[in-house]
Amino acid sequence: MIGILSVQGGVREHELMLDRLGVAHRQVRRIAHLDGLQGIILPGGESTTMSKLLELGGMLDPLRQAIADGLPVYGTCAGMILLATEILDTRSDAQSLNAIDMTVRRNAFGRQVDSFESELKVNGIANPVPAVFIRAPWVERVGQGVDVLARVPGGPAQGAIVAVRQGRRLATSFHPEVTDNTAVHELFLGCVAEAGYVHRL
Ligand code: GLN
Repeated sequence: MIGILSVQGGVREHELMLDRLGVAHRQVRRIAHLDGLQGIILPGGESTTMSKLLELGGMLDPLRQAIADGLPVYGTCAGMILLATEILDTRSDAQSLNAIDMTVRRNAFGRQVDSFESELKVNGIANPVPAVFIRAPWVERVGQGVDVLARVPGGPAQGAIVAVRQGRRLATSFHPEVTDNTAVHELFLGCVAEAGYVHRL
């Protein structure tokens, strides 16, 4: 059972992706929805809005705790931002889940290229992945325990880190859920299977 954080953002696309993979899923809006999860996806959307809604709903600490306890997590775009230990170019009151030792910069690609598509080589995935970036963050620093899985291959942002993994925690700047390529979700489900974790309240 995979949860999809559903306080704001692109929930539906992740639901369709998990449907295609034949994986049971549940929208997570309240603390009770965390019970029994084997993994959770944090979708794209607006990270500062998500942060605010999580705080208002009393979900910030329980979610942070669930991940700290071992719940596998995959964040796309705004979800990646929420997972970072340090966020640049955000609001001063924006909260983080402190789950991946990295510094991310919001809306890092700038105005000219704020949305674009690219084929990416992702470590751990055999074939290149079509990647859609929408006002995406990039990663400016990773800590020692964090593996860099993908970098932008060319153009003005060449070399920017856009996919990372720290143990059972995965994050991408881009949105595989808006393509028909299931490889990154399968990579996450591999982390979930490997972890063998079930969250209990
Ligand atoms: N720019 C958004 C933010 O800062 C993220 C965009 C996205 O999730 N597609 O939260």
